[in-house]
Amino acid sequence: MNSWRNQAACGGIVNDTFFGDPTAAKRFCRQCPVRPECLDWALKTGEWHGVWGGLDEDERRDLALRRRGRPRVPDGMSPLLQQLFYDRTTEILGGHLRWNGPLADGRRPQLRHENRNLSVYRIAFRIGHGREPQGSVTSRCGYDRCVAPQHMEDRVIRSAVRPAA
Ligand code: SF4
Ligand SMILES: [Zn+2]
Repeated sequence: MNSWRNQAACGGIVNDTFFGDPTAAKRFCRQCPVRPECLDWALKTGEWHGVWGGLDEDERRDLALRRRGRPRVPDGMSPLLQQLFYDRTTEILGGHLRWNGPLADGRRPQLRHENRNLSVYRIAFRIGHGREPQGSVTSRCGYDRCVAPQHMEDRVIRSAVRPAA
């Protein structure tokens, strides 16, 4: 048993309040003296279910990404999808992010989520630019299978950087 649990407003026990209505659970946490310790514990142990340290699952996944220096989850994207994206990548020197997951047609990075096949380039673009891409998304760096969010370009960016002659 972790020592911070002795001072926990919720009694330090996992109970229905914390896995049921998140708003009610967060009210407990607001007056809890060991909220930071509790939050750290949940992030370190990968406890995603329920409310811990005053944050629900989506908020903790978002915080975990930002603590690792990664951009916050864009509006409308589930933090789980963003995590699945990063789980299938490897950071490469030079700021590239190599895709290790499946490829559509042997070349286009693809991610299956909630029974749909999604374009990883489009996910990466939304993470890097905070908006939906317009037209097709391509990687500007040319590095094999790079899906670094900041290396993604859509039609708007391509025409601004390389206007048609
Ligand atoms: S922060 Fe919330 S979940 Fe964590 S110990 Fe305190 S009351 Fe319980
Ligand atoms: Zn790259």
